[in-house]
Amino acid sequence: MSVPISQVWTVSSYILKQKLLRRKRYPLVLMLEPLFRCNLACAGCGKIQYPAHVLKRDLSPEDCFKAVEDCGAPVVSIPGGEPLMHPRMPEIVRGLVERRKYVYLCTNAILLREKLEAGEYQPSKYLTFSVHMDGSREEHDFAVCREGVFDKAYDAIKLALDKGFRVTTNTTLFDGSDPEKVRAFFDEMMELGVEGMMLSPGYSYDKAPDQASFLGRERTRQLFSRVFAKAKKSWRFNHSPLFLKFLQGQVEYHCTPWGNPTYNVFGWQKPCYLLQEGYAQSFDQLMRETEWDRYGHTNNDKCANCMVHSGYEATAVDDTFSSPAGLFRTIKAMFSR
Ligand code: SF4
Repeated sequence: MSVPISQVWTVSSYILKQKLLRRKRYPLVLMLEPLFRCNLACAGCGKIQYPAHVLKRDLSPEDCFKAVEDCGAPVVSIPGGEPLMHPRMPEIVRGLVERRKYVYLCTNAILLREKLEAGEYQPSKYLTFSVHMDGSREEHDFAVCREGVFDKAYDAIKLALDKGFRVTTNTTLFDGSDPEKVRAFFDEMMELGVEGMMLSPGYSYDKAPDQASFLGRERTRQLFSRVFAKAKKSWRFNHSPLFLKFLQGQVEYHCTPWGNPTYNVFGWQKPCYLLQEGYAQSFDQLMRETEWDRYGHTNNDKCANCMVHSGYEATAVDDTFSSPAGLFRTIKAMFSR
């Protein structure tokens, strides 16, 4: 088990409550993007391509708390941009922890040592640093287009673990990834002592400078199958076991874009973290007015190659809780990577 029992309990009871209330669509993880600025310019990311006046904007702590309360999801993921560059991020994190939300603060960790030494964050079961690591030293520094970032992140993870913080890694795999090197990287992260690893196949952001390295659906299945063909029991992942089966092509799912709604400086993004098809001004409006049936890999060309966790993890989790058969499938998947 790679997450604390209290988190499993909170998320499970939340989902069961949604089932009892017969809510067809419910959010599971709020993607809270408080800024788009970053101290890196990775070729596979389109977030920093916004004009300067947008990159300057920050969500206030009050904006963040309102979004979290309106949405009601038990887990809040804070991507960006680089959240540690937000001047009021410690206040935002404190407020979310007080609200007993399980926060995943996504960071490239370049600033993490400095922030930890300044005492800006306190360890809590509600706070996890989710550190961007796209492979071992050579692969990661290549992916983020700067040398030395892997070593900096590795050092900051060690410090965070020593100080008692929860730490996970967040890895995007692109076309051409070598399964042998990916497995060696998993071993390295387990030895380092992170709580779990998150994985995603690269999605083709239309704003990203490198459009050649994104994976199509079939290539994604091939890559993940090859990586997991020699899976080790020691590897811990921060995913539903069924989502890992989905990445290997052993289960077919449809996207659940409302499972990970996104709130950023423009409002509530339709329909998901990856596509920008307009914005709603309230969470309620997002849920009511988005034409959800227009999305998913069979319904929309823009979704055709997408298998990312922000679209499909919520589907896998919902599957677990939808029937005894789903629960059985999950238990079986836990023991058969
Ligand atoms: S399939 Fe991917 S791009 Fe399409 S709505 Fe779902 S998460 Fe978004």
